[in-house]
This record gives sequence, structure tokens and C-alpha cells, in this order.
Amino acid sequence: MLRCVSISRVALIALLLAAASPTSFPQQPAPPTPAQEDIARIVGYAMTRGGALDFLETLSDRIPARITGTPEDLAAAELILKTLKEAGFDSAHFEEYVLSSQWRHGTATGEVISPVRRPLVIGSYGWVPGTPGPIEVPVVDFGPPGDGNAAIAANVRGGAVIVDLRSNGSSSAYVGARAIIARRLAQAGAAAMFIVSDKPGRMVYTSAFGFYPHAPLPVISIASEDAAFLRRLVAKGQVKVRLDVQNSFPGPGTERNVVADLKGDDSKEIVLLCAHFDDWDPAQGANDNGAGVAVVLEGARILKLLGIRPKHTIRFVFFSGEEELSNGSRAYVEQHKTELDDIRAVFNIDSGAHPPLGFAIHGRQDTEAISKKLLIPLAPLGAERVFLDADFDSDQETFIVAGVPIYSLRVDPQDYDTRHHTIIDTFERVDPRMLALQTAVMAVAGYSFANAEQRPGRRLSPAEVQELLKRTGLQQLYELEYSAEKPH
Ligand SMILES: [Zn+2]
Repeated sequence: MLRCVSISRVALIALLLAAASPTSFPQQPAPPTPAQEDIARIVGYAMTRGGALDFLETLSDRIPARITGTPEDLAAAELILKTLKEAGFDSAHFEEYVLSSQWRHGTATGEVISPVRRPLVIGSYGWVPGTPGPIEVPVVDFGPPGDGNAAIAANVRGGAVIVDLRSNGSSSAYVGARAIIARRLAQAGAAAMFIVSDKPGRMVYTSAFGFYPHAPLPVISIASEDAAFLRRLVAKGQVKVRLDVQNSFPGPGTERNVVADLKGDDSKEIVLLCAHFDDWDPAQGANDNGAGVAVVLEGARILKLLGIRPKHTIRFVFFSGEEELSNGSRAYVEQHKTELDDIRAVFNIDSGAHPPLGFAIHGRQDTEAISKKLLIPLAPLGAERVFLDADFDSDQETFIVAGVPIYSLRVDPQDYDTRHHTIIDTFERVDPRMLALQTAVMAVAGYSFANAEQRPGRRLSPAEVQELLKRTGLQQLYELEYSAEKPH
């Protein structure tokens, strides 16, 4: 029964309500706008179709080793192109460029031969030479090298030198110091450089940053446990190792990016959604960056499937060569230099399939307010934040230098660094929910920026870019990378 409310009182309330003007009733929620309707459909499809997960499984299991310049990297490009064409992107195509230095990853083995015999867990860095056949050399403990400019003792000549540079691959200072110390050790006649891996579980690390197009000596990642063992032996006397690293440089080659457009009503202005598809071969490159490729590709398929026609063109670009010197994105910027003023925004994903938080705008304060506004549709997904800090960790560096507004997906990194460039970057560790959520986030971000009345900001002049690099602390890394041999 109704609580203490008599029938007559209910009738009175009904009469009063009937007499009131219709506007005093609670309003029906407004019907969704066409844009809200589009976003709801994009998010719904991203979360339920499973397309990114399905593509990532194929890429990871069929083409796990996608080192830039290899036939396997070509196979990955072909798979992406085929998938785009099947989705209806008839004009999807390759954009080729010259890779000035190819590299083939041979085996790397090492063992202590004196004072005891014991195999070592080691792995080669990328774009480093092999040893001249098996070599037997003394071990030298260099210790921490500071900024790379510490004095080099004469005893490094002919030795395998342990440098206590922790392999924190994402630190610009670390990458710079690594390249400088390698050059100086080679000049001093060292036979090889061991870098102590900071991965757990006796894992080693690899990277080519600072070494492309050709490192000056064999640079080898050594498991931290094995390095500690060697250093204990060295502290007590002479130690010899046997090393056999079989890398080779077959010369220049051809690489390619894969490009597809979802034409807008005004096809002059463009929003780019990008990810790199090259990887390292100890595992499957599933998180770095198969996941990013799967996310962008599935976003493209969903927008196409839903028949969405944005105001401005959304272009999907899949880069090769990121792991060496962002060669693919540099080639893209060179080949599209007449269009750079017309790029509204570039969205890059290379963060692994972890919870998305928002986007880094790499010091572009001038775009902050409008970026926050345009990312509001991502608030219900928890991915609307704007981060001002800047880094050179992926293809964003090319667009920072080109002065174009650039957005990198930021995530809660969880165990990203543990898996990064190791034997455990495998498919089954990728969280399907994060892959789906990131698909929604990237596609909605691209849609929102392509449909906005206002651009987030203009292209910076070269002088403004230099000022930005100085202000964000990226100038040293810029000089290191842009003084290297031009990749095309
Ligand atoms: Zn990557």
C-alpha cells in the first residue's frame, strides 16, 4: 500500500500536475546529435567487434620478426595493405623510401672461458657489427660512464668492456650516453661493449637508437645476473670470454610506409592516425607495436564500415623503420612536405595495449585549451587528459621537428618496460580489453579533430621548433639524431 498517502491526496497532486505548464515536467533527454550518434557507434563497434585482437593475433603469430629492411617487414606491410583493401580502402598504397643501411640479425653467443667455463646470456643490439668470427678477449669492468664523457683507461684495448649503463630504453639521456660511450670505446680499440640489461629474470634488451646506421663496435646486452657474475670474477683477477656475434650489413635497401585515406568533405586538411609496424625479433613485437598497428587498422575499418564521412580527411599511416631512426616517418614528412601546413593533427600510438589516459602534446601549450575541448568525448572512457611533457620516444619526434601539432597516446604503462624489446613481448600478454578501448579512443580522437570547426594550432616555424626543443629539454637528443646520416 501507499505509505500514509490517502487516495484524495494522490488525486490532488494529479490535478495540480495537470494544471501545470508542460515545461515544468522533467525534460526528455535531448536526442543525440549526429556526432554523438557516430561516436556511440564507433565506441560500440570498437568494444564488441574484436577486430584489433584478431588482426594482432595474425600479425604476431604469422610475422613475428619484422625488423626494418627484411623480407618479413615487407610481408607485414603487405598484410596491412591487403587488410585495408579488403575493408574498402581502394586507394590504400605503399610509399617507398630508400633505407640507407640494412642489417641482418645473426646469432650471438658468449661464454666465460677463464677462470671457469660458463655460458653467458647475451643478445646483440640492433645495427651493430658482428665480431670477426669467434674471438677470445679479456673482460674489462668500466663501471658507470656518467654522461659518456668519463676518461677511458688504456686497458679497454682489445677487451670486452662491461659498461654499467642500465638499459632504460625510454630515457633520452641514456640513449645519448650509450651512443657516445660506444664511439669512444671503439676509438680506444675495445673489441666489444657489454651493456648491463635492467630487465628482470635474466632477460636481455635490444635497440638501435644511437647506433643506426652502423654502430662502431659490437654492442651486446648482457643479463644483469651474468654481468654481476663477470664483475665478481674481474674483481678477483683476469677473466676471458669467448664471443661470436654474426650480424651483417647487406647495404642499402627499400622500405615502405602504408597509407590509406578516409576522404573528408574538405579533403585539403588532414588528421593523421599512425603506428609503426616494424619490431625486434626476440619475440613477436605484439605490444611494441603490433598493438598500435591493430588499433589504428581496426579504427580505419570501423569508420569505413559505418560509412562515416568526416569534414576533413582522416589518413591512416603505418610506418616502418621507427626502431632505427624513425626512418618511415622522416620519409613521410619529406615526401609530403607540401602538405605539412594542412595537417591539423597527428595522432601516434606506440605505447602498448595498456589503460589509455589521454594524449601528450609535447610542449605545445598553444594547443592545450582547444585540445582539451576536442578530447571531451573521451571523458567517459577516461582518456581525455592532455599531458604537456615532451619526448622523442617514437615517430612523434619527426612531427615535433616538422612543427606539426602532434598527439601521442598516453597510458598507465603497467609492465610495458619489462616486456619492451624482450623475449616476452608476445601476443597472449596483450590485454584484449585495452586493445578494444584504445581502438575506440584513437578512432574517436581522429573523428573529433577531423570534424572540428577549429584547428588545434598552426604549424610552428623552424625557429619556433628550436625554441620548443630547448624549452622541453629535447635539444641534445635532437642534435644526436639529426646529425646522424640522413636515412633517405
Ligand atoms: Zn615502438
